[in-house]
Amino acid sequence: MALKVLRRIPAGSFLILAVTALLASVSALVVSWTAFGRQLDEYAYDFLFRLEQPAPWKPESAILAIDEATLAQYGGLIGMRSAVADGIEKILPAHPKAIAVDVILAEPGSPEADRKLEDAFARAPNLVLSSDLVGSGAQIHWEDPIERFSKYAVALGQVHADLDKYDAVSRDLPLEKIAGRQRRWALALAAWAAASHAEIIESPDEIAIGKARIPAPIRDGRVMRIRYAPLSMGGIPRVSIADLARTPGLAAIFSDRIVFVGVTAQTAVRDRWMTPYSNGMFMPGVEIHANACETIARGVFLVDAPLWAVAAAALGLAIFAAVGFAFGAGMPANIVGAAAIVTAQAFPAFAFSRSIVWPWLPGTLAAIFAVSLAATWRHLMVRRQLVSAREETNRYQNAMHFAIHELRTPLTAIQGSSELISRYSGMPEPKRREIADLINSESKRLGRIIETFLSVERLSAGQIEIRTERFPIDELVESCAVRARPIAERKNIEIEITSLPAATLSGDRELMEYAVYNLLTNAVKYSPPHTRVRVSGEDGKGERVYLSIADEGIGMDKAEVSRIFEKFYRTKKAEQSGESGTGIGLSIVEQIVTSHGGAIQVVSEPGKGSRFTLMLRRAV
Ligand code: ADP
Repeated sequence: MALKVLRRIPAGSFLILAVTALLASVSALVVSWTAFGRQLDEYAYDFLFRLEQPAPWKPESAILAIDEATLAQYGGLIGMRSAVADGIEKILPAHPKAIAVDVILAEPGSPEADRKLEDAFARAPNLVLSSDLVGSGAQIHWEDPIERFSKYAVALGQVHADLDKYDAVSRDLPLEKIAGRQRRWALALAAWAAASHAEIIESPDEIAIGKARIPAPIRDGRVMRIRYAPLSMGGIPRVSIADLARTPGLAAIFSDRIVFVGVTAQTAVRDRWMTPYSNGMFMPGVEIHANACETIARGVFLVDAPLWAVAAAALGLAIFAAVGFAFGAGMPANIVGAAAIVTAQAFPAFAFSRSIVWPWLPGTLAAIFAVSLAATWRHLMVRRQLVSAREETNRYQNAMHFAIHELRTPLTAIQGSSELISRYSGMPEPKRREIADLINSESKRLGRIIETFLSVERLSAGQIEIRTERFPIDELVESCAVRARPIAERKNIEIEITSLPAATLSGDRELMEYAVYNLLTNAVKYSPPHTRVRVSGEDGKGERVYLSIADEGIGMDKAEVSRIFEKFYRTKKAEQSGESGTGIGLSIVEQIVTSHGGAIQVVSEPGKGSRFTLMLRRAV
């Protein structure tokens, strides 16, 4: 039984493996698709972002900062335009490539400051001004700088912040925004275009500018992930307008760079955001624009792995994780499962080092789900095997008890008889012979019982040699019936032989007799008195010959029939019938028949009777 279960594993295992892997990967993808799943993936992204920082580079941009000191010097936000004007004037001698101003200039300010700013703008090279989205719904529109300023700008760039909707971390930037049929490129993109005198060329999948090809498909909203300058670079170079007034030499850092002008003062504005690096600290909006500009300038973009690849990898990892449990158990399976989970961690890290954003959750969850599912399945399976092994041991023990009991009866008879002979020397001859016959027949009975037990083991181990003789089927049946009739007569059961084919069988006559005799005695044992046992035969197609033994006895249900060929199995009804038995006979019968190239079939109905049919091969 245990052996049969083990042999059945591989076929079923493939199915279990496929179902487990599919279930694990699909549910992993579904969980990753939820808001919670995506949030976890974003955290994993931030972690990798910090882990795999690029080597520092020479920045293309610099920040002209309106910090606390500047605001203090110019009397707060009111003086901001004047500060910007002074700042721009001071950096012009350093010849910046372009100047992008991240300050909203949609309303007129004080006449004097506006005039100052206009003068500065007039002299600024490649000036890019910002435009913000205001209003909502149908009223949404661009708030552009007033004409007085915008006339000096080579382009307008949008500065609308687009944050992660769950945790307000600035990971990416929409390169274009459309409102009221007007499109604005992002400030960083417009500034880079102005500085490099390149045209922005768009296609459905990317935006090309100079040598850079930005993979920002229109279907994904033209979003570009910002590759922030690594911490080792200490951020984008920054000089405040207040410091510039005190130390004009600082203007040198703006030489040949794209200048982003904006507020960095913590107290002044809300324009400060979290980034994957920020670790709880905020980054001013102007610095985020400068970082976006650096990303474009470097031309190395982080792209999302295609969904099909992520799904395929999740499935692959689930198969990998479950395979150990499908074909084995214990430590090796655990190690394979753990290896799959570790591989799931390595995937995103490896991909990130090649600028591919590979979501962490689908693969990891798929591997974990697959390990848990497969391990649970394996656990249930082993438990089932254990239960059936225990059942078999119980049955075996019962059979042993029975056998010992059976052995004791002839043994007692032999002992008693031999003692009689030795004690009474003057025993009459007929009595002595009777006792000697008894000893002889009882020892033969002992031998038969032992032989039966041994033959089960030897047959199943293939140790019995099968002879090949030819014998007619009717002779075989007749000699078995002759032996079974005395037992049948005790219960007034008639053994009736009808229509046997005139076929000759080839094989081991002794073993075949054992099989047929067993079926006959079973039919008698499990039938009430005054019934009939019918033996009949039939020619089949080709070499086939059928031999049936049908009774009108206690019968069996389907579940019982499926188990009667197991060693030591007896039905409840058989045990209650008072008929002695070991549950071994039929297992030997089956082995004999199959080793002769035949098969055995049982049709039975509780209370009605059973029919055992042997399908045999005739001798040719
Ligand atoms: P046993 O020594 O118990 O007869 P077998 O291996 O010959 O052992 O048979 C196994 C079991 O199959 C029996 O215990 C009985 O429950 C059932 N069985 C066998 N033959 C019949 C039959 N003709 N009618 C009903 N039950 C049967």
